[in-house]
Amino acid sequence: MQARKTCIFCNSHGVTKEHVWPQWAHNLIKSGPEGSYREEAHIFIGKTQYAEPPFRRTRPGNVKNKTLRIVCAKCNNGWMNNIEQRARPILQALIAGMPFEINPNQCQIVTEWITMKCFITEQSRPIEAAFLPSERQEFMKARSIPRGLAIYLGLCGEDSWASAYLRHSAQITRPSDPAPTDNRRNLQSISIGIADLFISMNHCQIDHIGIHTLLDKEQQLVRIHPLNQQSVYWPPSRMTWRQATNFANFQDKILKSNSVQWHPLGIDSNKDPLKNRP
Ligand SMILES: [Zn+2]
Repeated sequence: MQARKTCIFCNSHGVTKEHVWPQWAHNLIKSGPEGSYREEAHIFIGKTQYAEPPFRRTRPGNVKNKTLRIVCAKCNNGWMNNIEQRARPILQALIAGMPFEINPNQCQIVTEWITMKCFITEQSRPIEAAFLPSERQEFMKARSIPRGLAIYLGLCGEDSWASAYLRHSAQITRPSDPAPTDNRRNLQSISIGIADLFISMNHCQIDHIGIHTLLDKEQQLVRIHPLNQQSVYWPPSRMTWRQATNFANFQDKILKSNSVQWHPLGIDSNKDPLKNRP
């Protein structure tokens, strides 16, 4: 018998099956080869060694029809739907790539939408989830964005980035720290491609790692959270498939580089792209 599931936000019983991606975005999400999509997870020990053979499976159907049973109807139809409705026109303007000034209020709304999607999509493999239950609850109550989270936007839409989801998560500690007793992730990045819009969410629960300041130097990304200026101008110059992929893999590069002062205990990536470049 399946364990009774509770809502990841309000903890109430009676979760319902919900689409991960909203209806309005469905016509923007392209279909993969023969209507299938691929999921992958790579688990590493240390910097290069695989902990286990890579997990790969091909799922039938289109990724836009992906559903998860993790939230209750009250949350889904209430505050979550409010975020969905408020974010939709701004996301559509971003996807269209028309020049406009994204004001701080619009940045906040889009940040809330992306944070909500990240809370949900990381539950596709709950064992690798990185956000804390308290972070989800604070978000539900007061729209508080988790500490250590940074969001960047760009314009791509080339090949598989027109419809892609790529997640990297890791557990990191200082070399001088004792080995952790659990395997909960404290560092993750999620990259999402919806038509021409490229989204990069980076979250680190350990202070002073400096990943965000490195991404700030990239001319093809604009930061919408945390805001460091009054307005953000859209769009930045369009990036190629290769550049978007490099940004999406940025966290792994940092962890594997010799300059990093943190020792990664596990790195994994979990992707749901509709199609992958061979
Ligand atoms: Zn709920």
